[in-house]
Amino acid sequence: MTRSIDEVLDLILDDLAAGGVPLPRVEPTTWQTWEPSESVMLLGADSSGTGVWLDLTLSDDQALAHLADQVQEWVVEELARIGRPTNWPICAAHPDNHPRQAVIEHGRAVWACPVGADSSPIGELSSG
Ligand SMILES: [Zn+2]
Repeated sequence: MTRSIDEVLDLILDDLAAGGVPLPRVEPTTWQTWEPSESVMLLGADSSGTGVWLDLTLSDDQALAHLADQVQEWVVEELARIGRPTNWPICAAHPDNHPRQAVIEHGRAVWACPVGADSSPIGELSSG
């Protein structure tokens, strides 16, 4: 794991932007005391914050999927707060049933349909 949390978070925030999700304000913190790790706070429109963290012991793809899962939790809460549908990222095969999940598929971090119908690499939602 060689990337900083800012670099990994940027990939995920590209996906939020591609999906029309409001972007959080990002503030550095050291709330996560697990070593080695990096952590930040994601702040929503009403300034309520959620801490997310990067586990520096994981591989790049594992760390990306782990962070994306935490960011998705923030997104779901933020979309609910502003009264929008919370199924992000939308599953192209089942848009009304479930969002996609951050998982490892063939060694890559992807947003995947929980029943396997649809997936794309995390950080590349805008291209597909
Ligand atoms: Zn699906």
